[in-house]
Amino acid sequence: MTQKANYIDGDWVNGNATITSLNPADPQDVIGIYASADEAQMRQAIAAARAAAPGWERSATQVRSDLLFRVAHEILSRKEELGALISREAGKTTADAQGEVVRAGQVFQFFAGEAVRYGGESLPSVRPDIGVQISRHPVGVVSMITPWNFPIAIPAWKIAPAIAFGNTLVLKPSEYTPGVAWELFAILERAGLPKGVANLVNGEGAAAGRALLEGVDAVSFTGSVATGRKIAAAASERMIRVQLEMGGKNPLVVLDDADLDVAVECALNGAFYSAGQRCTASSRLIVADGIHDRFVQALTTRMRALVVGDPRDSVTQIGPIINAPQLEKILGYIEIGRGEGAMVAEGGKRVVAATAGNFVRPTLFTESSNAMRINREEIFGPVAAVIRVSGYDEALQVANDTPFGLSSGICTTSLKYATHYRLNVRSGLTMVNLPTAGLDYHVPFGGVKASSFGPREQGRYAVDFYTSTKTAYIGY
Ligand code: NAD
Repeated sequence: MTQKANYIDGDWVNGNATITSLNPADPQDVIGIYASADEAQMRQAIAAARAAAPGWERSATQVRSDLLFRVAHEILSRKEELGALISREAGKTTADAQGEVVRAGQVFQFFAGEAVRYGGESLPSVRPDIGVQISRHPVGVVSMITPWNFPIAIPAWKIAPAIAFGNTLVLKPSEYTPGVAWELFAILERAGLPKGVANLVNGEGAAAGRALLEGVDAVSFTGSVATGRKIAAAASERMIRVQLEMGGKNPLVVLDDADLDVAVECALNGAFYSAGQRCTASSRLIVADGIHDRFVQALTTRMRALVVGDPRDSVTQIGPIINAPQLEKILGYIEIGRGEGAMVAEGGKRVVAATAGNFVRPTLFTESSNAMRINREEIFGPVAAVIRVSGYDEALQVANDTPFGLSSGICTTSLKYATHYRLNVRSGLTMVNLPTAGLDYHVPFGGVKASSFGPREQGRYAVDFYTSTKTAYIGY
């Protein structure tokens, strides 16, 4: 198998080392061998982005818009093929993987429009005979570091606004999904990307931490809190702009007056789909006393019917865990939960499948308290815990008692509680009678507390991270 290269300054460049990408459902299935950039190659990529920056900053917005539309068009027209690659490399079911491809295409389409729509503001001064004009300018060179669980959508929602607003960039994708990132850059190249405007360096995280924060103007990161913390520290030392999207421990509140079917559907989808490997997964199910037993009964019944297995099989509903260490971590948390006194009401076991993939049954704990580690730490797998509460007031207090604040949800038929929750839950996203995961592309995305840091991603709000404002005073 030949090495698939990194993309630097408009050229495909081999690395001194390689990454072998394996199918998490079947490690015998080798997806490809990809160049792994060392620090020197990462620095070359930054130098290329720096050299391209002045020209791209001056480029016509129509040129940027047309480029983004061409990228969107190719992504959308190859939905099945790119979806199959995401299934193989990230372990998503076909529906999930194709949905992600469509999302990436829509993001490029959206920012193709934004490229010609964004602008500044003109105000009168508070003093006579003076006008004030506020204009937006690209930030410059942006480093992007992304996780494996949305291997095309997350790079898309960083790359598209960066290009739309005249920035240049270097992307370091997850070492677990180099194949999807490689395809995205092949698409960018075919769409006519000018030399150096976007550069791809597949490679290890630690090298990126040392090389990709030097000589750039901004860094946009999505991944774990532990990595985000390191990036924030390095960015603040260098005084560069930083945007971090990190983990969650998202609460789904179910009140006594909830529609039981809706609540069970929200929990099943939010907690277990995509094998719980979503930052917006509902891992804490905060359930009022009066509906608790019926909810647990109905949810465990639905869970037992979930088909876990290889996503290449069309009946599969829950795919594999991304790698063996992560599977061990999840199984470790299941033991921690048992040790803390929570009860495994369903699942709790590794699945032995036909292939040596990393599979675990969706797992539900009951009799858990919000103080337990299983309710305080992000597990990032198909594991959720039910916390029984007396009613709405306790539910809200428990929902907010967490270091995280990404997504949240409530199932209720009460307008009063839905409204109070929406206004008082401390999270960047909140859902009423909907799963905590599953979002649109045209509105802002992000959280509070340890889940996010810096300006929001996506929608019109993305302009705040990818541009700086300049305020000009003009005397008449
Ligand atoms: P991770 O933090 O291990 O890795 C993310 C990226 O950071 C990878 O590209 C990795 O190579 C790189 N990295 C690792 N160490 C680094 C270092 N020292 N310096 C610079 N880069 C480094 O996260 P992951 O396991 O790939 O992804 C799962 C995490 O991502 C979960 O916590 C999940 O909640 C979070 N996530 C958040 C969002 C969001 O938008 N809030 C979306 C998806 C995933």
